[in-house]
Amino acid sequence: MKKQIAQILVFSSVIGMLYACSGNQTESSAEKTDSTATAGSSNYACPMHTSVKSDKPAACDSCGMELEKVK
Ligand SMILES: [Zn+2]
Repeated sequence: MKKQIAQILVFSSVIGMLYACSGNQTESSAEKTDSTATAGSSNYACPMHTSVKSDKPAACDSCGMELEKVK
């Protein structure tokens, strides 16, 4: 009878350790997936004047051409 209780205590403590380990692993992986979110907003630039840039479609200040999307 005492042997059974000892076995149950060991078994439950092992399960508790495994549960704690798996819980830590899921926490760290969740932090990793969050890092690569908003990357690179598209900008616009004049094909003739690379110094003329805008964050939205517009006309070049120097030649009046439409700014092209730059990745
Ligand atoms: Zn231009």
